[in-house]
Amino acid sequence: MKLFNSLGNNKEELQRNPNGKFTMYFCGPTVYNYAHIGNFRTYLLQDVLTRILEVDGYNPCVARNITDVDDKTIRDSIKNNVTLKTFTEKWTKIFHEDCEALNMKLPDFEPKAAEHINEQIDMIKILIDKGFAYLAQDNSVYFRIASFGGYGRLSNVENRELKTQEIDSAGKKNLADEYDRENVSDFALWKSTKPEDGENFWISPWGKGRPGWHIECSAMAKKYLGDTLDLHSGGVDLKFPHHENEIAQSECANGKKFSRYWMHVAHLLVDGAKMSKSLGNLYTLGDILKKGYSAQCLRYALISAHYSQQLNFTLNNLVAARNAIEKLQNFFHKISPVRNIQKFEISEWKFLKDAFSALLDDMNTPACLGNVFKLINETSAESLDENQKHELCEEFSTIMYCLGLRLDDEEQDVEIPEEIKTLAESRWQAKQSKNFVEADRLRKELSNHGWTIKDSSTTYTIEKSEP
Ligand code: AMP
Ligand code: ZN
Repeated sequence: MKLFNSLGNNKEELQRNPNGKFTMYFCGPTVYNYAHIGNFRTYLLQDVLTRILEVDGYNPCVARNITDVDDKTIRDSIKNNVTLKTFTEKWTKIFHEDCEALNMKLPDFEPKAAEHINEQIDMIKILIDKGFAYLAQDNSVYFRIASFGGYGRLSNVENRELKTQEIDSAGKKNLADEYDRENVSDFALWKSTKPEDGENFWISPWGKGRPGWHIECSAMAKKYLGDTLDLHSGGVDLKFPHHENEIAQSECANGKKFSRYWMHVAHLLVDGAKMSKSLGNLYTLGDILKKGYSAQCLRYALISAHYSQQLNFTLNNLVAARNAIEKLQNFFHKISPVRNIQKFEISEWKFLKDAFSALLDDMNTPACLGNVFKLINETSAESLDENQKHELCEEFSTIMYCLGLRLDDEEQDVEIPEEIKTLAESRWQAKQSKNFVEADRLRKELSNHGWTIKDSSTTYTIEKSEP
């Protein structure tokens, strides 16, 4: 497979790992709120990459972390009056439910930062011993950027652009720390405890505190996948400073190259703008389901654009996705006696060679789908003999497996009228505010109209009632 390596900015052939496993580390969610559809664009394209590598025999092995200690998780757990563990477990569970609904494969390892404090402390100790990090007056430990010549290679940041990094992950600038550092661009590996951290501190050789913003990925990647990864990936916003800092920490501590390949997913915009709550254009999976589209529609809409291009998402993308899935389903049903999607070992591609080649060429999902629809438009299933149908079915099924699309009937979407969506939303709001009488009344009204509501812990779906 060829992929654009953002380290060096070249399309390169991915060399198989002689050890037999192709190791990949994906930066995972900070579990303090719902993941939004931009986050899922990145996770889904990483999922497609993993599936393609699996089909192409690379034997991928994936670690994706859960960030459960940082400024945001601590801040919001305290605000909600629950322990950090209780708070982050709740949001981790919701993240897992969303991943499952989106048909994402589970990573082989899903380490949590709070369960790997010792590993992070060990790595910081090594960095201090080797002279790459120092203890500041406030008992925080900082990485000395000037000690690492390779700093900035991934993102091409110039020295003069290296502004202060002491903006915490909740976006707050921490001026006090600036005076403790040798250089404004040095970043924290260990943060000494502050009153606003409450009970959330750990004991270290440098006193009470907690890990900095970046060290968890370096420490957990080392533990689960070794000193050198085959591939590391995240959204493009993570290139600097997060990934640059990960490289600095890992290469200085381990004395080895951190990752052979880097893959960055371009951002998702909604209605032409960056997603934000205040603009009202921030969508979660739950929001999309409430609008009457399936998780699979969202999956399709998010993976069908090339990962290196920004994607401008509008609700029209979901309408197009729904039509496309229906077309794929109809065709699959004509060539296949069974409904479940599997991957097959295909020795020689005959019908969908171009579609699979497109995936192997820098994961060109739009070109892959273009080739699939070309075949659908040009092929009459009735004219194929049984043997051809069988071969085509295996190829088609394997491409759908790579894309993570399921083509069973249950996935078929139903148009939900606007007034039903409004009623359902009112019922959900009533239930959320514990107005159960009103919620029951609205459920009955929906039922009289022929619609059934199914609730999960975080959202609901609207289904046509059984006749
Ligand atoms: P976070 O939880 O903010 O660390 O983000 C989780 C993942 O989603 C990271 O890989 C981010 O780079 C990625 N991400 C965040 N916002 C977007 C977006 N609008 N489009 C695509 N990926 C995003
Ligand atoms: Zn990371």
